Amino acid sequence: MPRNERIDSDLVVVGAGAAGLYSALTAASLGASVTVISATPLAQTASYWAQGGLAAALGADDSPELHLADTERAGRGLVRRSAAEVLVNEAPEMIGRLQEIRMRFDADSSGDLALGLEGGHSRRRIVHAGGSSTGRRLARQLSAALVREPKVTILEGARASNLWTEDGRVVGVVCEDDRAVRARATVIATGGAAALWNRTTNPPGSIGIGIMLARSAGAAVADLEFVQFHPTAVVGVPGREGFLISEAIRGEGATLVGPDGERFVDELAPRDEVAREIWAMLDQHAVESVGLDMTSVDAERFPNINDALMQAGIDPSKELIPVAPAAHYLMGGVVSDLNGATTVAGLYVIGESACSGLHGANRLASNSLSECIVFGARAARSALDEPTVSSGEPPSSVPLQLPSRETREAMWRNAGLVRDRSGLEQLLEDPYPLAALVARCALAREESRGAHWRSDFPSLDSGLDSMHAVISGTDPAFEHWQ
Ligand SMILES: Cc1cc2nc3c(=O)[nH]c(=O)nc-3n(C[C@H](O)[C@H](O)[C@H](O)COP(=O)(O)OP(=O)(O)OC[C@H]3O[C@@H](n4cnc5c(N)ncnc54)[C@H](O)[C@@H]3O)c2cc1C
Repeated sequence: MPRNERIDSDLVVVGAGAAGLYSALTAASLGASVTVISATPLAQTASYWAQGGLAAALGADDSPELHLADTERAGRGLVRRSAAEVLVNEAPEMIGRLQEIRMRFDADSSGDLALGLEGGHSRRRIVHAGGSSTGRRLARQLSAALVREPKVTILEGARASNLWTEDGRVVGVVCEDDRAVRARATVIATGGAAALWNRTTNPPGSIGIGIMLARSAGAAVADLEFVQFHPTAVVGVPGREGFLISEAIRGEGATLVGPDGERFVDELAPRDEVAREIWAMLDQHAVESVGLDMTSVDAERFPNINDALMQAGIDPSKELIPVAPAAHYLMGGVVSDLNGATTVAGLYVIGESACSGLHGANRLASNSLSECIVFGARAARSALDEPTVSSGEPPSSVPLQLPSRETREAMWRNAGLVRDRSGLEQLLEDPYPLAALVARCALAREESRGAHWRSDFPSLDSGLDSMHAVISGTDPAFEHWQ
């Protein structure tokens, strides 16, 4: 499409990870015309990198109620129950929908879905594809299904730079190169912001651009103080820095050992606990990493992890893998209701950019890919009920601001696993606006809960149960969500 050209669609989806792809596919299957804008190739999305799988209560010994209880336990008193209920009730059916588009999940010897165990889950309920290649296969399958849809236009290598608004309603998107898409509804699916921290498991594009676009259009954001640090990212191995070793490996029996070679943590406790125990061990012994011992695990079952480690010169069947926590997943984001609607008319948000309250203060492993599918579908259906828009000329594109290396280092230093007032205050003047927003939420939450650990407020304040730090204007205000 030439520069300055304009496309009209029923729906425009910004982002082509699991959430954006599935939402676009749902809308297309309902007969809508859809434009998908994607800044990076498929292989550079967090969805493609996902190793664990999708959580759904499918086992004979499992139920949505048990899945809900585990989600709430991990979320530390901050999970919005209505959002979690949607996820746990609809995830099993969504697995079936994915199979209908020829997504092949791993099966056991009887041909039934093989269900894996991960930290914080009381039952085996994680479906995988190709062992630890779940995200890659899911993203490929979704994108293959989408390109077969005749009314779908995909703008690859295009970066949304601003939202097109008229009379308080979002009516489309403008790209950096001035191409514009007008639509009845706009869906933000740009992923999270964990790459804003310099030690991260995320692809470089996870810097929260969509969250900032939505905020510029007036949408409320919330819970930005909650970024999950994955306990086991590879450190000290050139070329593999931040490479994630899936929780599924610990689910199959891998253990964590300190410098003395002894185990020191329940490896399957929720992520925030495991990450902090590792952090304390690193601090106590002044070392960079602890050891992940997967010598008892059949590494061939996790081919992409095995291959990546072997290429880096580590044989996981014989050696310890050096690991430490890294920024991994943003629980906060753009405030959304149970259908992905934001506080601005015509604007929806799904996947890791969204904050429905589902994950509370700490996401339960493998709930996010399920969220992408469940809420991606709901948002598509709801967005197509928006009225048709008539609009004038689009605005010009706005140059996008990207975080500097200094910002990313400052985020790690001052908004890392353990924070305090003086460090957070240093982020308030950071030139990257999202860094300052994270700091404002983290300063407002004067307690320690889930992934947010304040050394100056080390206890949980039960008065903040179910209270979400919401920024509509400049400063956060606590809101009770149910
Ligand atoms: C290494 C790793 C392993 C993981 N493992 C699991 C797992 O096993 N199970 C699980 O449930 N979760 C897992 N997660 C988390 C999960 O993968 C993500 O939360 C989820 O994939 C996010 O999907 P998304 O569609 O919201 O965003 P992404 O998959 O991150 O996609 C974002 C899209 O937005 C596009 N984009 C960004 N900015 C712009 C812009 N300005 N204009 C246009 N396009 C833009 C990008 O190009 C990309 O297409 C893992 C994450 C990582 C990093």
